Amino acid sequence: MKFIADIMVGKLAKYLRMAGYDVIYINDASDDEIIKIARKTNRIVLTRDSLMLERKEFKNGTIKCLHIEDVKLKNQLEQVKSELGLSLEPNLMRCIECNRKLVKVKKDDIKNRVPPYVYKTQENFLYCKKCDKYYWRGTHYDNIKNTFLSIKDRSSPV
Ligand SMILES: [Zn+2]
Repeated sequence: MKFIADIMVGKLAKYLRMAGYDVIYINDASDDEIIKIARKTNRIVLTRDSLMLERKEFKNGTIKCLHIEDVKLKNQLEQVKSELGLSLEPNLMRCIECNRKLVKVKKDDIKNRVPPYVYKTQENFLYCKKCDKYYWRGTHYDNIKNTFLSIKDRSSPV
């Protein structure tokens, strides 16, 4: 399942990338551009814009769309988990900033590129070539994990 998010759900887009999902987010894209990209790359549109929902492409089912109801991130995550059945677990696979797939890097090669404490305590590192950014399973990763763990599945009875 791949997505394209509109300007109002940028934070949700980042969190879905943290779970490894492919989410395009262009903060100045017009509705037409979003529709065009969704059609071309077979993506589900995530939007908070009720006017957007009136588009014929959604009404006739050419393009799939999920209307994100709430402004709160936690409720948004609950909605995608419940309605699309997404598995929300932290997955260091995509760059949170640009959606690009991360590549594994050797610890020996990045000695002076990450903070010394991180270098000392972590073994596995990933890298985004485009953003020149390193990722590892540190405190931030644990915070994401806790956020995901707190998300309920509304469709499940327990
Ligand atoms: Zn990046």
